[in-house]
Amino acid sequence: MNTNDSLLAALRQCLGDNGVVTDGDLAPHLIDWRKRHTGQALCLLLPRTTAQVAEVLRLCRAQGLRVFPQGGNTSVCGGSVPAETGRNVILSLARMNRIVEVNARNNSMTVEAGCVLADIHTAAAAVDRLFPLSLGAEGSCQIGGNIATNAGGTNVVRFGNTRDLILGLEVVMPDGRIWNGLRTLRKNNSGYDLKNLFIGSEGTLGVVTAATLKLFPAPRSVATALLAFDNVDAAVDEAIRLQQRFPGEVVGLELMSRSEFEISLRHGHNLRKPFAGATPAWMVLVELAAAQTDGLTEALSAALEAAYERGEMADVVIATSEQQRQDLWRIRHNVTEANTREGMGLTHDIAVPTYQVPDFLRRAGDALAARYPDATPVVVGHLGDGNMHYIAMFSHAFWAAVQDKVGFQRELSHVLYDIAAALDGTFSAEHGIGSLHVDEMRIYKDPVEIALMQQIKALFDPDGMMNPGRVLPGTGTTAADGHATH
Ligand SMILES: Cc1cc2nc3c(=O)[nH]c(=O)nc-3n(C[C@H](O)[C@H](O)[C@H](O)COP(=O)(O)OP(=O)(O)OC[C@H]3O[C@@H](n4cnc5c(N)ncnc54)[C@H](O)[C@@H]3O)c2cc1C
Repeated sequence: MNTNDSLLAALRQCLGDNGVVTDGDLAPHLIDWRKRHTGQALCLLLPRTTAQVAEVLRLCRAQGLRVFPQGGNTSVCGGSVPAETGRNVILSLARMNRIVEVNARNNSMTVEAGCVLADIHTAAAAVDRLFPLSLGAEGSCQIGGNIATNAGGTNVVRFGNTRDLILGLEVVMPDGRIWNGLRTLRKNNSGYDLKNLFIGSEGTLGVVTAATLKLFPAPRSVATALLAFDNVDAAVDEAIRLQQRFPGEVVGLELMSRSEFEISLRHGHNLRKPFAGATPAWMVLVELAAAQTDGLTEALSAALEAAYERGEMADVVIATSEQQRQDLWRIRHNVTEANTREGMGLTHDIAVPTYQVPDFLRRAGDALAARYPDATPVVVGHLGDGNMHYIAMFSHAFWAAVQDKVGFQRELSHVLYDIAAALDGTFSAEHGIGSLHVDEMRIYKDPVEIALMQQIKALFDPDGMMNPGRVLPGTGTTAADGHATH
């Protein structure tokens, strides 16, 4: 038996024969959702229990293996696939997908980390509650991945990021110790807040195995409209007015540029343009939700018709049925997939204070036009929280001819990140750092902050076995070192 064989035999001892995958079923776990990052691993580990996670982590540590936790593999920043070199294993939470407890009286739910987000929505709806985290990948991303990346999505303007929706966590440390922090309290000021340290740590400090989530009353009525604007200043002004007019009821404010809107329609299945005539420059999809049963659509219609009469917007479409509402949202949710079909999109997950959004878009558009005339700016974003996915879209033919792809992307991205930084913004709003943005951590974060993060990492994971090369500089190879395939 060679070393690998005896290692695999030991892992099978922990997880059973079908808990260790080395054959063709491993391949989909070695490439990311957008097919831009690849890696390699000795095997895929599929534990069923927290005790099994603890046991395999102890074994991996003793054997000097590097562990890459994986959820639904929907990361868009090279966070979910292992590195291309090294003695790597992927630890998938896919078989830990039980809803453990739903407590409607406490508005809480405890789930295993491998639960798919859409299944959590269904379980909450069954007791007339809402779990409000919502994103395009919700049919395949897992709550463990959402927690690890502190995912945002379309409802942040009303309910906050994942961080705001978590009451407690269970985490297995790299040395196999289990921290059971599955609390259901709304208040708990007893010492350092470890829960919030693990949220957003992208699997670099430990493996999230379970979580207790906050639930909310299911809304009784929803009102949705698509607003069109000739300029983005008007779109931002209207978004601010709507939040003032409907405090607590605006749950979504999604911005799309004309280019994005048209790409989504072009590559969508059965998507129809909701406006007659030419498409205006900017669109905002607005959604309101309320506890009362009626009057919401009428109130939104009255406010929007008055705004239209005052010339504040170019056009407005109000959904008058659930089907129309879903049709509008399908245009929005289709963008990530449609963009991959359109060409080579270099995506930037930028946030600036909301009032600075027009300034950012103007400066970014000018910079791209001056330095990258082959790029089409494509914008989709969560306007309510100032988070824009700013995409420089190139044709496949142009991209194929670029020699130094990594260098080209780095230079272009830094033009945009510098503009965001000058407006008090960030280069990573909700997708996380993964392996793709480690370089930006070095450039844009305060050195004191980076040093403190490195000290925390060394304390929790002294052997550097968890997700090396992700999040922090100096912990292994990264996509920026040339391992991304884009
Ligand atoms: C179509 C589409 C739309 C998207 N829309 C949004 C959006 O609106 N907002 C948003 O924030 N993101 C969005 N994303 C990005 C992605 O869906 C999120 O980052 C999601 O939270 C990742 O979850 P996942 O289960 O797929 O995790 P993965 O992609 O598998 O992993 C992501 C990171 O989490 C770590 N990880 C996963 N599970 C665990 C665990 N149990 N314990 C410790 N670490 C773990 C991994 O090691 C990795 O570092 C979108 C992606 C796609 C493809």
